[in-house]
Amino acid sequence: MSQPSPAPAGTNSSGPKPDIDGHRAMQYVKEIVAMGARPAGSTAHAKLEQYILAKLQGVEVEQDKFTAQTPVGKFPMNNIIAKFPGKKDGIIVIAGHYDTAYPLGKSFVGANDGGSSTALLLALADQLRGQPLEGYSVWLLWTDGEEAFVHWTDTDSVYGTRQLAQKWQQDGTAKKIKALILVDMIGDADLDILKDTYSTPWLSELVYQAASNLGYQSHFYEFKTPMEDDHKPFLKIGVPSIDLIDFTYGYNNVFWHTPEDTTDKLSAQSFTITGDVVLETIRLLNGR
Ligand SMILES: [Zn+2]
Repeated sequence: MSQPSPAPAGTNSSGPKPDIDGHRAMQYVKEIVAMGARPAGSTAHAKLEQYILAKLQGVEVEQDKFTAQTPVGKFPMNNIIAKFPGKKDGIIVIAGHYDTAYPLGKSFVGANDGGSSTALLLALADQLRGQPLEGYSVWLLWTDGEEAFVHWTDTDSVYGTRQLAQKWQQDGTAKKIKALILVDMIGDADLDILKDTYSTPWLSELVYQAASNLGYQSHFYEFKTPMEDDHKPFLKIGVPSIDLIDFTYGYNNVFWHTPEDTTDKLSAQSFTITGDVVLETIRLLNGR
């Protein structure tokens, strides 16, 4: 291939073409779920770290390892950051947690809660690698210790992002971040991404515009509620942030944090929708 091909309709050079392979993301989830429960400190968690790193060969990766003090003791944690350099000065962070909830035991495999965010970021890495980005740099962030160890409070939750937000504030990275997009529980076959009222309003609107551009707006913002999640430590230090989460996982969220959170409840289409909306949002951010 020597001749540059023209950009397809609806895209331009300011971002990768929204074309997430939802089936590949589903395959990733199945491989991840097969490892079993993956709480911080577990063997399965360590295996998943290696799995993520192996998929990122050839990409610049930073591991942010630390020890978290939880109500049930100290746990090793590791935020994994894959960096895709762009030409514009500034960073867009796409984040999602890869740990599963510690208190739920071995029967909780977290296909949607933990698995879907891990897999979508891997599918995004497949899209971003090997092509120079004309716009902002994109960093993919697999966060650790999102889940509570006993029950959710401000100090027993989001361990990884609390530590990383503090680090990025101190080293100046936070100032360079144009937007942080968090994905969580986005694999649900019946995809209803809610409107989180903590999220930065202009970024919420931009995501809705991206969804509308792709014809996916019916999957967004039917429900409106404040969500406690990994975006909050970044909001606290002034980084424009949004949480894309489907918190109606089964009727009345009945599959959430139960052994019923299995891959049969997910669909490739939901990965494609969320992933493509993330890529379209990146494109819109680059054009702002
Ligand atoms: Zn959870």
